[in-house]
Parts: sequence; C-alpha cells; structure tokens
Amino acid sequence: MTDHVHDPAAPSAVDPRGLAVTWWGHSSMTIDLPTVQVATDPLLSGQLYHLRRATAPPPPSAAVADVVLVSHLHHDHLHLPSLDRFDRDVPVVVPRGAPRVVRGLDRRRLVEVAPGDSVDVAGVRIDVLPAHHSGRRSVLERGGAVPALGFRFSDGAASCWYPGDTGMRVGFSDIGPVDLAAVPIGGWGPTLGDEHLDPEEAVAALGQVGARWALAVHYGTYWPLWMRRLRPGNHRRLFVSPPQRFRQAVAASGLDVVPLTPVFGERVVLTPAGTA
Ligand SMILES: [Zn+2]
Repeated sequence: MTDHVHDPAAPSAVDPRGLAVTWWGHSSMTIDLPTVQVATDPLLSGQLYHLRRATAPPPPSAAVADVVLVSHLHHDHLHLPSLDRFDRDVPVVVPRGAPRVVRGLDRRRLVEVAPGDSVDVAGVRIDVLPAHHSGRRSVLERGGAVPALGFRFSDGAASCWYPGDTGMRVGFSDIGPVDLAAVPIGGWGPTLGDEHLDPEEAVAALGQVGARWALAVHYGTYWPLWMRRLRPGNHRRLFVSPPQRFRQAVAASGLDVVPLTPVFGERVVLTPAGTA
C-alpha cells in the first residue's frame, strides 16, 4: 500500500481533513471519513461464478470498517462470503427486504433502508437515494420488490456520494455537492445497457451533483474468462479504456473535479492544496 496525495485545483473549498479512499476493485472501496471508516459493496474474492479477478484478492484490511453499505442485491455487490470477513458487530446497510431474498444475510447486523430514508449509523448520516437499476438478486431469482439504492453520506466533516449501479434515468441534481464522488464507469460486459453509466455518462452525472474528487469504480476488475480472447474489442472498451475515457471526459467537461483512477489497493489521501 502506498499513500499518494492529490491536490485539487480549488484550495478555497471546505477542508475535509483526513479524507482518504482505497479502491479494492469493482465497486468495493474503503472510504476513510475524518472520523469513520465506510466500506461499500465488498466483493473481495478471486472469482465470482464465470468472472475472474484481474489481480490478487484484497488484503484483510479491505474487510475493516465501522459500517458497510450495500447498494443492491446483484451478486457482484452483495457477496455474503465477503461480508462475512467483516467483524460480526459491523452494521451493514442493505436495501429494505434484502434478508427475505438472500438467505444467510440475517446473521449480519442489518440496517434495512429504502430511497428517501435518512439514517444515522455508526456516526455516519446516510441519505438513501433511488437508482435506475434492477433490485433483483439475479434474472433467475426473486427480489422484484427490493429497491436498488444509491447513498449520500457524511460524518459531518466530509461528504460522499456513491450511486451504486444506476442509469441516467434517475436525476442527480437534488443530491448536492460532495467532497468525494465514487462513480461507476464500466462493467463486466459484454454490454452495459441503460442501467449502468459509461465514462461520459458518469461525468454528466458528476456535473449534476458536484464533487471535488471523483473516484472511478465498477470497471476493470472482473471479466469472463473467454472475453479477452474471443471479444478483444469489447474487452478493451469495457475493461481497459474506461479510466482513460473518464479522465478525458472530465477534462472536456470543464468541471472543477479531480478524477481519481488509482490502482487496486492504493490508499489515496485527499488533501486540499496547502494543507498536506
Ligand atoms: Zn447491478
């Protein structure tokens, strides 16, 4: 693990001293708010069904947090073996109704929420957002009544936005500016559909929300074994090029946001200019 300091262009904004983020691949990250550690959608395994991880699985520190946020029931976001690596006492925020659909989830300490809810968990104020995305566990399984979620959260010192998986059909303009946004920019293919964001859409969403730093997630981590060989064009478009396209789209947008595309496991310290 290495620490890298990114100085944003706008030193006059609020000082979220102590804010840092570590991307573990896909939509799994640890966000160090100044006073609380938050983990999102932990998927820490080397493989998931037919999908293979591009790197070694994350270290044990990936399963350390004060609260875990789970955005929806898809297997690449709600992964019980990964959740079970966290201490049994760590609260897990899940879509309302999730334990009815996912057997074994009720052994965790759950906080069930729905869009529109605001809850305080482990010192974090969590505003629960809607997502334009399927709430089902999979196409073959039940779960139609369980919503897919996004989150805006803050410990009072720094704020974050993580939309989960979503398409653009949900408006983002009422979320309000945050210090750190974590936006999905890809997938595991072969197509993205209208329930995900590509890099350009992610930047359009960022423009609606407003953020000082934007971490790209949900790309380049897991892919089907056959894709690299049989569909090299798709592999490049969905797994290799998204971070570069994301940076280009941010630059073209004129937004005052610092794009973050760290390598797996790199802890990025977000420090306003002049305070490092
Ligand atoms: Zn999904």
